[in-house]
Amino acid sequence: MTSAERASHSVSAADSGSAPASPAADDRCPCLSGETYAGCCGKYHSGAQDAPTAEALMRSRYSAFAVGDQPYLLKTWHPSTRPAVLELDRGLQWRRLDIVETSAGGPLDDHGVVRFRAHYRDGAARGIQEETSRFVRANGVWLYVDGE
Ligand SMILES: [Zn+2]
Repeated sequence: MTSAERASHSVSAADSGSAPASPAADDRCPCLSGETYAGCCGKYHSGAQDAPTAEALMRSRYSAFAVGDQPYLLKTWHPSTRPAVLELDRGLQWRRLDIVETSAGGPLDDHGVVRFRAHYRDGAARGIQEETSRFVRANGVWLYVDGE
């Protein structure tokens, strides 16, 4: 991203707090899978498909944080732990996702655990959020439960 793009993005993200522009379909997916956004997390964000594995859901939720898609984050949150309101910190830029370890979470499982590191930039500061997230599959759909 060029500095000009970054500047225009931060202006548009600051105005209302809702729905920043989504990546273009052929942009690189924010989860850095190497796929395009449309071919990766975008198809889950749009509702065209459900994430088939816990890791795919994890990646798509990371990308939802990166593009500011609160509705998707709430939709993929288990009702028992889902917050009533989700405020995203617009000052954070999510830069990179590393999947550290995945346990279960496959198409035939009903639970899964994904350990990840998410790299962010907050103004001039950089940080890493590391979390072990738990997922369950209910009615064929993976949902985020909680993390530590
Ligand atoms: Zn992706």
